[in-house]
Amino acid sequence: MAMSQAATEAAPNDLRVLDTRHHFHPFTDHGALNAKGGPRVIVRAEGVHLWDSDGRRLIDAMAGLWCVNVGYGRRELAEAAARQMEELPYYNTFFQTTHPPAAELGRVLAEVTPPGFAHVFFTNSGSEANDTVIRMVRRYFDLLGQPERSVILSRDNAYHGSTMGSASLGGLKTMHGQGGLPIPGIEHVMEPYWYKLGGDETPEEFGLTAARAVEERILALGPERVAAFIAEPIQGAGGVIVPPDTYWPEVARICREHGVLLVADEVICGFGRTGPWFGTEYYGLDPDLMPIAKGLSSGYLPIGGVMVHDRIAEVLVGRGGEFFHGFTYSGHPVACAVALENIRILREERIVERCAEHTVPYFQAKVRALADHPLVGEVRGAGMLATLQLAEDPETRKRFEPEGDVGALCRDRCFANGLVMRSVAESMVLSPPLVITRSEIDEVVEKARRSLDETLDTIARPGGLAGATSAGSG
Ligand SMILES: *Cc1c(COP(=O)(O)O)cnc(C)c1O
Repeated sequence: MAMSQAATEAAPNDLRVLDTRHHFHPFTDHGALNAKGGPRVIVRAEGVHLWDSDGRRLIDAMAGLWCVNVGYGRRELAEAAARQMEELPYYNTFFQTTHPPAAELGRVLAEVTPPGFAHVFFTNSGSEANDTVIRMVRRYFDLLGQPERSVILSRDNAYHGSTMGSASLGGLKTMHGQGGLPIPGIEHVMEPYWYKLGGDETPEEFGLTAARAVEERILALGPERVAAFIAEPIQGAGGVIVPPDTYWPEVARICREHGVLLVADEVICGFGRTGPWFGTEYYGLDPDLMPIAKGLSSGYLPIGGVMVHDRIAEVLVGRGGEFFHGFTYSGHPVACAVALENIRILREERIVERCAEHTVPYFQAKVRALADHPLVGEVRGAGMLATLQLAEDPETRKRFEPEGDVGALCRDRCFANGLVMRSVAESMVLSPPLVITRSEIDEVVEKARRSLDETLDTIARPGGLAGATSAGSG
């Protein structure tokens, strides 16, 4: 790893230097990072704002990584963690043991999730939740005497995490290209991404085409081999891909008809992100398993889980015997205490309901108004999720080549303007804390428009996009 010029010249206690020397970052091209003089250092946050080590204020339109639903700086969450640390900092939930935070969080999750989800298996992340899904689904069919039903269908461009199992469930070619993924028994079908793949079909027609791709694969494999279909209600990290209205009802019918379990990855959509508490409620779905994480603790501590529907729990929990699976920190008491406090805040302050009633319509209207910008081909979104699909020619849906550079350029302009907006290929993503106010939404949209203008100016200059960018994951 090359050391940057800035790194060798700066004071030895400079955090950027220390970080450059010692920290191997997730989803980061260190060559590109070093060329910039190291990472930005975020030191403080309050509400929807972040401060970096230069004292600059940024508005965080990504809620961290789609997770800080209640916003930053909620003292009650820190106090809940401190109280639990003093009372019982750690004990495990293996081998017939529990503790108050795990038992109480299980009950509260059964209350806030859709009817029928009385059981939760705790993990420490969304990735672990999805690895747990693979094992649960296969164990379930083993117990039913159908061990050959083991294939799990997922979608191109899905994101389900970074462990071997969850990255295999994911459909990102870049991830599969490193480390020999996917693992066997996982298959990917077309994503319901009309803007990119819809061709001459209307969104409604294309929604059915994408749903039927699920059925075609089930039939090609043989329904007796297909255990489950996993999908996010709305794909987040793939670029906020909101499926056409025709998609989900047809997929749900197909899964039911062929006896394929429906796994709704609620890691982003859960806890109010799409408007209702869960993305499955937004679409009226009746899933069998629901992985959760992110908004469960608003990101204040790592915790995830798999919600298990009663019809699955009846087999897995009721008559399954021992499930040889678990994590040292499954149901960690401090993480559970923070999740409990987070859900208490969400419920008592009616954050999800108030956001859906008052903030979502304003947010969606303001963001959709950016559709008139010459760089924007489409604005998609639901709830407090939105994306600006950039396009070289919005009339014909012609996309930029190479994919990603324009997004990285726009993302860098956003940072320069004090706005955190993530880029996924050429989609600019917004997923702010649910507590964002109208005037803060105005601030986001005004900075986004300025960043789009500056991106357009750069592209229009001689040399254009080439050379202007520092590509890489946003
Ligand atoms: C972030 C994410 C995951 C992985 O969660 P981690 O906590 O990062 O392991 C899984 N599924 C979806 C939909 C996600 O967005």
